[in-house]
This record gives sequence, C-alpha cells and structure tokens, in this order.
Amino acid sequence: MAEQALDAFRRDLRSWLEENVPGDLGPERTARLPEDERIRRLRAWQRRLAEARWVGITWPREYGGRDAGIPEQLVYVEEMARAGAPEIIGNLGIGIAGPPILAYGSEAQKRRFAPRILTADDLWCFGFSEPGAGSDLASLRTQAVLRGDYFEVTGQKVWTTLGHHADWCMLLCRTDPETRRAKGISCLLVDMKSPGISVRPLRQMTGEAEFNEMFFDAVRVPRENLLGELHGGWQIAVAALQNERGILYVVSMQILLKQARDHLLDLARERGAGRDALLRQDLARVYLGTEIFGLTCQRTLDKLLRMGMPGPEASIIK
Ligand SMILES: Cc1cc2nc3c(=O)[nH]c(=O)nc-3n(C[C@H](O)[C@H](O)[C@H](O)COP(=O)(O)OP(=O)(O)OC[C@H]3O[C@@H](n4cnc5c(N)ncnc54)[C@H](O)[C@@H]3O)c2cc1C
Repeated sequence: MAEQALDAFRRDLRSWLEENVPGDLGPERTARLPEDERIRRLRAWQRRLAEARWVGITWPREYGGRDAGIPEQLVYVEEMARAGAPEIIGNLGIGIAGPPILAYGSEAQKRRFAPRILTADDLWCFGFSEPGAGSDLASLRTQAVLRGDYFEVTGQKVWTTLGHHADWCMLLCRTDPETRRAKGISCLLVDMKSPGISVRPLRQMTGEAEFNEMFFDAVRVPRENLLGELHGGWQIAVAALQNERGILYVVSMQILLKQARDHLLDLARERGAGRDALLRQDLARVYLGTEIFGLTCQRTLDKLLRMGMPGPEASIIK
C-alpha cells in the first residue's frame, strides 16, 4: 500500500475511534462488570466496529473486510491500542474460525456464518484439545458417526476458551475410526445450543473461568455443517492455528503487555514501592520479562514478514 493511502487509512481509523470508543469500557471497568453484562456490552462494541468495517480487516471485502495487508494490520493494532479501544470479544471467530470458513466453506456456509462472526451475533469457540490429546492433537478421540443426514458426536474436549459464552464451536472429531492419526479427522461447525452438549467452566487460581471442559453426548450435527471434505479436517485445523499466531496477535500481545507493565510501574512509583528492595527486584524482573517477550514478538513478526508463516517462536508467545 502506498504511503499516502496508508496515512489516509490511519487518519480514518483514528478519527473513527476518537468519535466511537466508549469511555466506560476500559479493561478495569469491564473486569468489574457482571459477566453477562460484560459480554453483552462487548458484543455491542464489536457490532459498532463491524458496521464501519473496522473488524476483520484482513477478510475479503466481499465478506465485510478490507483486504488489509501487513502495513494496515500494523497500523490497526497501533491505533486500537493508542485509543484504548475495548477488547474485541469475537476475536476467536474473526481471527481463527472465519479464515478457514472463508477458505474451505461452501458458499452457503460463508454467507451464513461470516457476517454474524463480524458483528459478534455469533461468538465462536474451538473444540480441538482433549484430555489425552493436547500437543499430540492428531490422537484425538471424540467421535462423529455419520448417520444419513447428520453426524452423531460423542466425546470430551478441554481448555475451550469462551466455551461457556460461545454460540458456535469449530469441532475436530474422528470420522474414520479405522485411522488413528490425522487422516481420519473432520471439522464440524456445531451449534452450541444443540441437545447433548454440556459445558463445565474450569476455575483458575485468579478466580476467573475463561476455559472449559465440554462434553458431547450423542449430539446431532447436520451433515451440511461439515467444513471442507469428510476426513479432511486436519488441514483446516492447521490453517486455523496458523491464523491464531498471525500478525495482529503478535503485535497486539506485545503492545498490551507493555501497556500493563507501564501501568504497574506507574502505580509502584506512586506508592513508593521502589524503597522496598524485594519489590524492586520483582519489578525489575517484570520489566525484563516484558522486554524479552517484546523481542520474541519482534522475531516472530520478522519471520512472518519475510516468510509469510510464523515460526515456532509463535508458540512461546501463546
Ligand atoms: C491460553 C490457552 C487457551 C487455550 N484455548 C484452547 C481452546 O480454545 N481450544 C482448544 O482446543 N485448546 C485450547 N488450549 C489448549 C492448547 O491449545 C494445547 O492443546 C494445550 O495447551 C496443550 O495440551 P496439554 O495442556 O494437554 O499439554 P501436553 O500435550 O500434555 O503437554 C505438556 C507438556 O509436555 C510437552 N510435550 C508434549 N509432548 C511432548 C513430546 N513429544 N516431546 C517433548 N515434550 C512434549 C509440552 O510441550 C508441554 O510442555 C488453550 C491453551 C492455552 C494455554
């Protein structure tokens, strides 16, 4: 993108954000809201962004995006952080579910799912990991048996981010019981309101419950909700996970962490924490940790820009 066009992109976004960022949805305020209220308000914020095409900017124009390249993505992350824009609650749908749906989905699936992902009418979660299949995802055992025009799904997933609020799930399951590894896996798009699904939040030591266990007990999924080919789910999973570690993620993680660190250091200065030698050491550790994290992000970004693919460092960031 030419420099002038990029400047115009930045100006447009900045002035839109100045007019539209809600003053009462900062991270500290939102964290104190009751959970359902927080989700409702963040959905409303995302809808506002979507109406002005300021979410899913890397998506094709035809499906509500802006065909944004790397320079615009960098500007986007910088400006959103600069404006203190609230969190985008549908990030998993926009960044991870949407791209494979657009790449592998039928036209009907694209038309059905894409607009609702952008507006946060549908929040998405990912049913990939299982108790016995984390790093070794290809050993997953959740089964989907094709019975005429529907699949019957039975099994368990774990670590499902946002599973307790999600409307839809991108689910990996074994459709060919004869193959034990990646070949017999399919990707289903599952309505989370389907009978037979139960979601159990996993409470963390912070008191929050972002992750869940999900149980599928003879859940019926219409055959038309198969994404891509039967037994062809592995390449979709790989595509989804690559998107997870894309540019927006790498840059925004770096900015968010530095903002949080600077906030902590300001607080520490204000309260005279520097007089305590042990606290001083802890703060120095936090400072160095975020600097090292920033360098790791830079390394990942460098590889992304040169090779179009994130390297293994991207997993450290996660
Ligand atoms: C913040 C966060 C959000 C997540 N959200 C989701 C989600 O929404 N949906 C979802 O499906 N999953 C999610 N996950 C799960 C995640 O994607 C991984 O599948 C999971 O963390 C890894 O599996 P595990 O925890 O069972 O670890 P394991 O696979 O048991 O690994 C434990 C440790 O052993 C090491 N290890 C494993 N195998 C080997 C080997 N062969 N050689 C050497 N070392 C090995 C690993 O590197 C790791 O350090 C999330 C995880 C995190 C941290």
